[in-house]
Amino acid sequence: MSNANNPKGQNRPQQPTQQPTQQPAKPPVPVENDAANTTPRVERRATLAILGAGPIGVEAALVASRLKIDFMWFEKGQVGDHLNRWGHLSTHAPMKTIVTEIGLEEIRKNGMGEFLVNLEDTGTGKGWRDGYLSLLLETPLLAGKLEVGVEAIAAGRDNRLREDPRGPRDPLGPFRLYLRGPNNQEQHVLADAVIDCTGVLGTPRPLGKSGLPAPGENACRDRIAYHVEDILGADRKKYADKTVMVVGAGISAATAISNLAEMAKEHEATWVVWLTRRPSSLPVRRISQDPLKGRDSIAAAANHIACRAEGNIEFHAGAWVDRLENQGNDKPVKVVATIGNKEVSWEVDRIFSLCGYQPSRLLNRELRMPWESSLDLPATGIESKEQELNPGPATEEPGWYVLGAKSYGRASGFDVRTGARQIRQAMAEILRVKPQEITKRLAA
Ligand SMILES: Cc1cc2nc3c(=O)[nH]c(=O)nc-3n(C[C@H](O)[C@H](O)[C@H](O)COP(=O)(O)OP(=O)(O)OC[C@H]3O[C@@H](n4cnc5c(N)ncnc54)[C@H](O)[C@@H]3O)c2cc1C
Repeated sequence: MSNANNPKGQNRPQQPTQQPTQQPAKPPVPVENDAANTTPRVERRATLAILGAGPIGVEAALVASRLKIDFMWFEKGQVGDHLNRWGHLSTHAPMKTIVTEIGLEEIRKNGMGEFLVNLEDTGTGKGWRDGYLSLLLETPLLAGKLEVGVEAIAAGRDNRLREDPRGPRDPLGPFRLYLRGPNNQEQHVLADAVIDCTGVLGTPRPLGKSGLPAPGENACRDRIAYHVEDILGADRKKYADKTVMVVGAGISAATAISNLAEMAKEHEATWVVWLTRRPSSLPVRRISQDPLKGRDSIAAAANHIACRAEGNIEFHAGAWVDRLENQGNDKPVKVVATIGNKEVSWEVDRIFSLCGYQPSRLLNRELRMPWESSLDLPATGIESKEQELNPGPATEEPGWYVLGAKSYGRASGFDVRTGARQIRQAMAEILRVKPQEITKRLAA
């Protein structure tokens, strides 16, 4: 017998000879369990799922609760986890501009006013979390609502793939979320609307050329901090009298530079190398008419340090990090960079990689969510005329809202007051009422 695919008949796996009397193979029969196990598992479903319990997640939960929207609420770590990363640093504005009216009202109404953070002054990341967000979690509106240690890993539309055709007469079902909780427990839940306020601090950008990790960056990770550590406090020993490199020109880099300059006054052997990509002698871009005055002062102070180019700080503009070399545990890291056309290298003890943050797209991979191409702005699901950023085309996933710091993509400058407005707009859409109606209901 000839074989069209393999004319020589070589190496062809032998087909078992079919006996005419043999019965065709039966499909496997599902095993019936005892009665208790045969009841189909009902997946949890709610009108709304809130992802993240930073300032915006907590405010969203508060508003949803007041509006009597049934919701599920998941947080990868603990409430205010990202605030905790910079818990030792000052907020850029007084706390009274950060808290909201309904938040204050709930805390005071429930007799916890004495534990409230000082509202007249700037606070710290830790104060914001402990003296505000955590208190709200104890109020009857939110008590027991947050599921901590539960990470939202992926989301899609129930019963369809992203590429499946969507007809006008084919109503979209709820969102299906894939969650991973403590002990790697996995579950799916369903929600008609989702507010994704998972922030950006969990996904720092790497320090190499073109926004890529520099060769050797991964191997040197234990010497690199991707957020501003407590230089003048708990982490002092790591930085005092050491050679420290700071890469970046945002507010975080500016904060690290100011703190290291302060440290160098007392610990004179501290040496700081500051590299920024833009060839500007004023490295930190100031936001024009920045509503957060504290933030603007940090930017101005760091620019002043760069201009002075004195003391223990060496500043290089127009620099790209080429590679890092891990020279062994107790040895400094070698950093090689290009400045103009020149290759320069340093041996440093620690590195601050403060090149900004970016939104994670993984969660939204199975959704039809276009992302604006330069700043990685997600389609937020709400019209946001007040921000200068173009949030990209309207989402093809009605009911999916990206709010909070994540809605600004790679851009900095998010202010929680914007977040509070975003939440009210999203709730108005979820309840299909005018935004004014939300304000009215919240005040009632
Ligand atoms: C030094 C400093 C000072 C600041 N001062 C001010 C100020 O004065 N005023 C102001 O408006 N802003 C200020 N900010 C900025 C402010 O902290 C942020 O804009 C704000 O925290 C953003 O809130 P968010 O809820 O959107 O995100 P985040 O605070 O980043 O919270 C996101 C939460 O989502 C959780 N999460 C992440 N991924 C997942 C997942 N997959 N599943 C479940 N949960 C997840 C995280 O653990 C985190 O708890 C300051 C920032 C810094 C660094």
